[in-house]
Amino acid sequence: MAQQKKAIILESKPLNEETKLLHLKLEEGQTLNFTGGQYVIVNTNISLPQGKLAKRAYSILSRDNDQDKFQIAVKKILDGPASNYFHDSAPGTTIPFSGPWGQFFCDPSTKIQKAMVIATDTGITAALGLIQSQNFKNCVKKFYLLWLVESLNYFLPPSFLEEKLGADCAGFFIRIIPGVWNPERGARSLELFKLFLEDRMGELSFLSGDGNLLYPFKDELLAQGFNDSQIKIECFFNNPFKKITTQRLV
Ligand SMILES: Cc1cc2nc3c(=O)[nH]c(=O)nc-3n(C[C@H](O)[C@H](O)[C@H](O)COP(=O)(O)OP(=O)(O)OC[C@H]3O[C@@H](n4cnc5c(N)ncnc54)[C@H](O)[C@@H]3O)c2cc1C
Repeated sequence: MAQQKKAIILESKPLNEETKLLHLKLEEGQTLNFTGGQYVIVNTNISLPQGKLAKRAYSILSRDNDQDKFQIAVKKILDGPASNYFHDSAPGTTIPFSGPWGQFFCDPSTKIQKAMVIATDTGITAALGLIQSQNFKNCVKKFYLLWLVESLNYFLPPSFLEEKLGADCAGFFIRIIPGVWNPERGARSLELFKLFLEDRMGELSFLSGDGNLLYPFKDELLAQGFNDSQIKIECFFNNPFKKITTQRLV
């Protein structure tokens, strides 16, 4: 069974109407031991109608040189239990969680010139954690970052991201795509993804966010000669390997 840990909310800062940045500190004597790109699973202790507790994953977006404190950003998803729990929790609240979890980082023996990091929607948190990590800096000389998102006000502000990119970032691109329920979203996103690849083909790619977009991106990379081991995916929602896909809440 996963080791249970606790963290206290030090600060909860609204970045826009639907986004909160949470600064958390582990309880005395605990340490996170995470690599940038990984996530925690928070137990909200809220009972769902089926009787289960609402436990949700959140990628750590702060740098992994600090293992006692960490940051997550949470977007409010309509009346979703966990995202509202975070939006309503005040500093001082204790959050039970497990982790770190996930494999969204480089094999430490990797040494490459160029990586491509592509995030959609809230998936940008995993990308941020990854590119700031010591592991990524050791393995990758430079990287390009593409963020596909429905508006500049959707989640983390662009200025917040720009501050964290570092000197190894050879280019950061934000492209606006149709929202999750728009039937043109898939085709438009794939078109933008292909354009991005034209002059920026790297040796490794990291994809995070909406599974409905990421798996067609993966197919495109495979068609262009990539193999499975060069493609890492962190699916935040619409994960085709999970039984439940995104339900429309309204
Ligand atoms: C590895 C991983 C890392 C994650 N990291 C983050 C993070 O850093 N920040 C963050 O805000 N969320 C993140 N998520 C999503 C998060 O776990 C929850 O799914 C989200 O907060 C909604 O939870 P909820 O209980 O409020 O609503 P729920 O009732 O669980 O959600 C309702 C539906 O919305 C879907 N959904 C989740 N996110 C979105 C979205 N952005 N757009 C459209 N539909 C969505 C869910 O899959 C679900 O089907 C991550 C998910 C995974 C798997």
